[in-house]
Amino acid sequence: MTVSLEGITKSYPNGSLAVHELDLTVREGEFMVLVGPSGCGKTTVLRMIAGLEEITGGVLRFNERVMNNIAPRDRDIAMVFQSYALYPHMSVAENIGFALKLRKVNKEDIRQKVSEAADILGLTPWLDRKPGQLSGGQRQRVAMGRAIVREPSVFLMDEPLSNLDAKLRVQMRAEVSRIQRRLGVTTFYVTHDQTEAMTMGDRVAVLNSGILQQCDTPQTLYDRPANIFVAAFIGSPSMNLYEGRLNETATTLLLGSQTLKLPDEIGRLHPGLLRYASKSVVVGARPEHLNLPPQSGQPCLECDVDLIEALGSELLVHFSIDARRAFPTGVQDEPAEDLAISGEGVARVAPRAQVSAGDRIRLGLDIESFHFFDSVSGQAIWD
Ligand code: ATP
Repeated sequence: MTVSLEGITKSYPNGSLAVHELDLTVREGEFMVLVGPSGCGKTTVLRMIAGLEEITGGVLRFNERVMNNIAPRDRDIAMVFQSYALYPHMSVAENIGFALKLRKVNKEDIRQKVSEAADILGLTPWLDRKPGQLSGGQRQRVAMGRAIVREPSVFLMDEPLSNLDAKLRVQMRAEVSRIQRRLGVTTFYVTHDQTEAMTMGDRVAVLNSGILQQCDTPQTLYDRPANIFVAAFIGSPSMNLYEGRLNETATTLLLGSQTLKLPDEIGRLHPGLLRYASKSVVVGARPEHLNLPPQSGQPCLECDVDLIEALGSELLVHFSIDARRAFPTGVQDEPAEDLAISGEGVARVAPRAQVSAGDRIRLGLDIESFHFFDSVSGQAIWD
């Protein structure tokens, strides 16, 4: 089933505009993740697709059919929530088969479908147990089983893994993806966790304040974020974002008190930067594009080391420079002024780099990989 959202808008009766003119088409069998900070409208989108929330503007289609006013039970969808409310007095098999029993499917067919779902989910050994005798991950799989046996055309999942501990969540992430691919059912998956979004989605739609920021494959979101919001939201640790100023030929960048020469390659990659000659821009550097020690001939940035985090496979070097940090505009919590002037950033460097807190160091810069944004609109500068 193809699901199309065409200019979908939701304003609640109290006047709160939760979703604004959302355009999104999810292809047959695609795994689409909706991600964004708390309150950005993800759950509202899912509930509108489910028919649990009235759509106040725009058109929702399943294939060609307009669904705006179709009752939830006639939409051929199955939802999986964070709180999976299993029936405690029923066995796993009864829980999974319950929706079919309500539909008066005959016993043998129910047994067959439950057995197939249990097989896919690795639940066969526990079919006779009660939910209280299962682990959190197993219970979540039972909840998935209840959705699977209904053989819906669309799965809607709202933070289904957020009650699980960190290790189990990682394991279930892979499992949910595997099951979805095997079944080939069009899926919307809501999360606020960008790592979950990146590892699970065929495509990821990033929302902020009810507005779609960008929808693309995880790698494209990472490599070519469309604006400062996506740049800051996708990736962990976050992209370092600073306010800078270009010279009159757009060949050097002033960052605090330091001047960086921009290699010719930058002009070829971002021809649009010429329009910003003598103007301010926001420059973005992912932590892995700052190296220690610098390679020979590499442009460098002098900075003060505040803190080192040793993660075994890498070191995270928290540093400060005297440039102002930049933040996405339009987010709910505007950063405090002292956070902006602190000039803090993070570099991801090789594990045995010689560096300690309090050092003044030179970080090598992989400037070709830097990102540039309009400091007013926040849009990425490419052409
Ligand atoms: P979270 O991750 O915290 O669940 P979300 O991204 O799913 O957040 P929604 O629950 O869709 O966000 O809410 C979007 C906006 O709509 C929020 O500002 C919220 O306060 C508002 N909202 C949600 N439900 C209602 C309601 N029933 N009446 C009025 N406003 C609502």
